[in-house]
Amino acid sequence: MPENDHYVIIGNGPAGNHAAATLRQKDKDAKITIISDECVPYYYKPRLTDFIAGEIAKEDLMVNFQDVKDIRIRCGQAVKRIDPDSKLLFLQHMEKIEFSKLIIASGSRARVLPTMSGYADHLKFVTSYTDVMEYKEEIRKAENFFIFGGDLVGFKFFKMLNSMDKTVTIMIDPDAFWPYRLTRDMLEQISENLLKFNTEIIVKDEVLSIDRQNGSYRVKTRKGIEKNVDMVLSFNGLNPNIEFAKGSGIDIDYGILVDEYLKTNVDGIYACGSCAQIYNQAIKSYTTSIGWPNAVVQGEVAALNLLGDHKIIESVGQKYFDLEGVKIKTTWWEDINEDNDA
Ligand SMILES: Cc1cc2nc3c(=O)[nH]c(=O)nc-3n(C[C@H](O)[C@H](O)[C@H](O)COP(=O)(O)OP(=O)(O)OC[C@H]3O[C@@H](n4cnc5c(N)ncnc54)[C@H](O)[C@@H]3O)c2cc1C
Repeated sequence: MPENDHYVIIGNGPAGNHAAATLRQKDKDAKITIISDECVPYYYKPRLTDFIAGEIAKEDLMVNFQDVKDIRIRCGQAVKRIDPDSKLLFLQHMEKIEFSKLIIASGSRARVLPTMSGYADHLKFVTSYTDVMEYKEEIRKAENFFIFGGDLVGFKFFKMLNSMDKTVTIMIDPDAFWPYRLTRDMLEQISENLLKFNTEIIVKDEVLSIDRQNGSYRVKTRKGIEKNVDMVLSFNGLNPNIEFAKGSGIDIDYGILVDEYLKTNVDGIYACGSCAQIYNQAIKSYTTSIGWPNAVVQGEVAALNLLGDHKIIESVGQKYFDLEGVKIKTTWWEDINEDNDA
C-alpha cells in the first residue's frame, strides 16, 4: 500500500463511521478522513425523539465509537462536487481535497411528497440533529400538530408528541413510506392500531390547502376536514443526498447506483447506507435499504471491497420494521418467508 493513500468518506453516520473503522482496522497506515456537513460528531438519529422530549441529554445522543482511531473528522464541511478523473472533492468553502479512494455514505434527508411541493414552505422536516436544533424549542412550546405522511420517523414523532401530551392529527399517505407503497389494507390496519392513542387519524384523504394565519396554520383536506395547528410536520420517506455527485460521471438514479459489492461505475468509488441504490441480481433491479443496522454492515462491506475483497452485501439484523402492526421490509435482495422471519 503506498504511503500516500488517502481514503475519504463523505458522511458521518453509521455507514461512514463503520466504513472508516474497518479501513483503519485493516490498514494501519493510510490517511483516512471523514467529511460531514453537520456540525456535530457521530450521533444516534434513532434517539433524536428522546432528545426533543427531554428524556435524554445531548451527551446520550453521541455515539461513543472508539474504533475510529487516528481518523480525521471534518465536521461542518459540505462536499459540493466530485471530480473522479482528478480524484478531487470540492468543498463548499472552496477547499479541494485529494483522495485515492472514496466512500460515499451521505445518507438521506426528508422527502417532499410531489403533491405537497406547493406547501413546502409551511412544512417542517426533522430528520437530523441540525433540524432538531432548529425546531426543538418550537416543538416543545407548540400545542397542536398536524403530521402529514406517516413513515417510520413520522410514527416515532407521533408517539413522542403523544407522550408530551400534545394534540396531534395525523394524515397517513400511502406514499409516505416511499419507495414502498402502503396498501389499502395496511392503511386500515395502521389506523385501527393507532386508535389506542388519543388522536385523530385521517386516511384516504388529501391536503387541499395549508394557510398561515397569525403565526399558526389552517389545514384543509379534500373531504372537508379543517384544523388550526401550531406546526405542520411532514414525514414522507427519505431522499438520498446525492446532489454533489450530479454531473460527476458517477451513475445515479434517485440514489448512487452501486453493484452488489457496493461499487459505483467508477473505479475506487463506493457508496453505502441510505444514499446507495444497490443492484439485486435476483430481481434485476436497484433498490435502497433503510435502517441503522443495514447502514452499519454496508459501511463495513464497502470498506472491505475498497481494500480488495469481494463481499456481496447481505441481509442483517431485523428484516422488518413494525409500522404499528404492519410489517415493512428493510431489505431488498430476497423474498423473505414471513413465517420464518417474523
Ligand atoms: C428521527 C429518526 C429516527 C430513526 N429511528 C431509527 C430506528 O429506530 N431504527 C433504525 O434502524 N433506523 C432509524 N432511523 C434511520 C437511521 O438513522 C438511518 O437509516 C441511518 O442513519 C442511515 O445511515 P447512513 O450512514 O446511511 O446516513 P446518515 O446517518 O443520514 O448519515 C449521513 C451523513 O452524511 C452527511 N452528509 C450528507 N450530505 C453531505 C455533503 N454534501 N457533504 C458532507 N457530508 C454530507 C450528513 O451530515 C451525515 O453525517 C431513524 C432516522 C431518523 C431521522
